[in-house]
Amino acid sequence: MKVTFLGTAAAEGYPALWCRCERCVVARERGGENLRLRSSVLINDDLLIDPGPDLVGSTIRLGVDVADVQAILITHLHDDHLDPTGFLWRGAGFALPPLPVAEVIGTAPTLGRLHDREGKALDPAGLRFAPRPVSHGERVSVSTGGTHDPDPRVRPGRTRTSDGAPPLASLPTPPGSYRLPFLTATVARSYEIVVLPASHARPDEQASFFVVRQTLGPELTHGQPATVLYATDTGPFSDEAWNILDQLAHDGWTFGASIIDATLGLGGPGTAHMNLEQVVWHQGELGRRELLAPDAGRFAHHFSHNGTPPHQELTAHLAQFGVMPSHDGLVTHVGP
Ligand SMILES: [Zn+2]
Ligand SMILES: [Zn+2]
Repeated sequence: MKVTFLGTAAAEGYPALWCRCERCVVARERGGENLRLRSSVLINDDLLIDPGPDLVGSTIRLGVDVADVQAILITHLHDDHLDPTGFLWRGAGFALPPLPVAEVIGTAPTLGRLHDREGKALDPAGLRFAPRPVSHGERVSVSTGGTHDPDPRVRPGRTRTSDGAPPLASLPTPPGSYRLPFLTATVARSYEIVVLPASHARPDEQASFFVVRQTLGPELTHGQPATVLYATDTGPFSDEAWNILDQLAHDGWTFGASIIDATLGLGGPGTAHMNLEQVVWHQGELGRRELLAPDAGRFAHHFSHNGTPPHQELTAHLAQFGVMPSHDGLVTHVGP
């Protein structure tokens, strides 16, 4: 299972938009891995977690194509994790149809935020998505790929350019290269998704974090499932969350990677986010509960300039605990 970090910052970005603190100044000077957009990850090329406000920027910056995404998981309704306007660009005239229908998975309050600036609910048919409300503790299956339902927005016999114009003869591409098949057939994969309660946001907002287990697809080693824990934004896991995780351990699940909220950095411990010490403790506790594969990647993720050193110092600090910081563009291959 391939995990691509599209963004790794907390709400204000790192360097932060309006900030000239020492860390932000150093981040701008050094550039590279110190420049973090708002947190989001892509699994393989068809499962996206958190369509946040930087999705356009991060996909352009990293050269990532998300047109095959067929599952969109949303942790919670905070603005740095969900920007509903991103869905509008799935509409005809913005994206070249056909698009596969993307299942959008989140709790009811999270999905309730899928509306436009006038408060009108987004149109699933027009934007090719299907809302799928889930509850904490629920396990859902998603199958992607294969041949998709036809996109009714495609008119047969017409050259598929987004604006209806014929392909440019002057472009050095083979003739007909714009004429893609009307039905997209993509790689078939299956995922099981476990929805866990996050210690974050107001209780009625039902923030979540996820375990994603890939059970089918060409990335799997000898067909063995690959599993990742994606736990941002959350404070220390609740008893309810640990109970669900213990059940997964009981069922024989282990994580090939665990990615945990580290917003508070070297600052004090939190209840709605974690500091580095809390991340290290959680990584250890997952191991003690037999939830981590022996060679699991242990990641800290979702960083703020308030408390998080620059990437190089952060990497050195976390290395003594066997934990790695995420950075934008990091790709990790998660094994069984
Ligand atoms: Zn956040
Ligand atoms: Zn949040």
